Amino acid sequence: MKTALITGGAQGIGRAVAQRLRHDGWRVAIFDIDPEALEEMREADPAMLCMPVDMGVESQVQRGFDALRDWAGDAGLDLLVSNAGIADPVSGPIEDLSLADWRRWQDSHVTGAFLSVRGAVPLLRRSGGGIVLMASTRALQSEPQTEAYAAAKGALVAMTHALAVSLGPAIRVNCVLPGWIETGPWQKASARREAQHSDSDRDQHPVGRVGRPEDIAGTVAWLASDDAGFVTGQRFVVDGGMGVRMIYQD
Ligand code: NAD
Repeated sequence: MKTALITGGAQGIGRAVAQRLRHDGWRVAIFDIDPEALEEMREADPAMLCMPVDMGVESQVQRGFDALRDWAGDAGLDLLVSNAGIADPVSGPIEDLSLADWRRWQDSHVTGAFLSVRGAVPLLRRSGGGIVLMASTRALQSEPQTEAYAAAKGALVAMTHALAVSLGPAIRVNCVLPGWIETGPWQKASARREAQHSDSDRDQHPVGRVGRPEDIAGTVAWLASDDAGFVTGQRFVVDGGMGVRMIYQD
């Protein structure tokens, strides 16, 4: 049985990835900062390892990997999905952005990816596994006042090709760039909300709808499979075509 670690796996996209991999027969471990969401996951599926970890804090990540090594045993790890991070892209006007807030975005996304990769590589080497980093289309295009998030996601795209070159042939490394993904139905029960989209929300996507966490989970499942065995160092935009739509303003 294959084993995966998903950071930020207790809600949203990470939760859908966890659910998809469980459905496909994987053992799944989750590191997440939200204890309530973790408890829900643990109750729903006691076979999962659900660890409270802030991915931006080195000591917590180390504690998480200690628990993971005990839990996984000799099986090691076949897949790391580094997905955790502050999902809100708006950091406000650049001249008002504090260094502490800038660092919050970088720590949760970039430092978290670094610490999770560093911890996972010895375990992945045993099984010849793979890594998927969760970037964003905001690594390539922007709304105003999203510099901290865009910089963090751009860093993940760059880390992907650097890691692929360093870690091959043993480990394949790719990143996914989701577009607009509606995570309301995938939050913990106390924060769950139904998706509500207008015609204009749907129409700006050439596929005719807003994305779902299951769309990203399917891409991750493919990247983790042998069908993607010749794929490394790549970035995959999964945005329903929103990013290729040309806009002429009136
Ligand atoms: P979400 O808020 O629904 O879920 C994120 C999960 O990560 C939560 O369970 C949260 O508790 C956890 N988390 C946050 N910071 C953490 C930390 N420091 N350490 C450990 N866990 C932490 O968010 P989401 O929309 O599912 O986003 C998941 C990833 O996908 C993020 O990296 C986000 O930037 C990226 N992404 C999301 C979208 C989108 O439209 N939803 C688009 C592009 C990229």
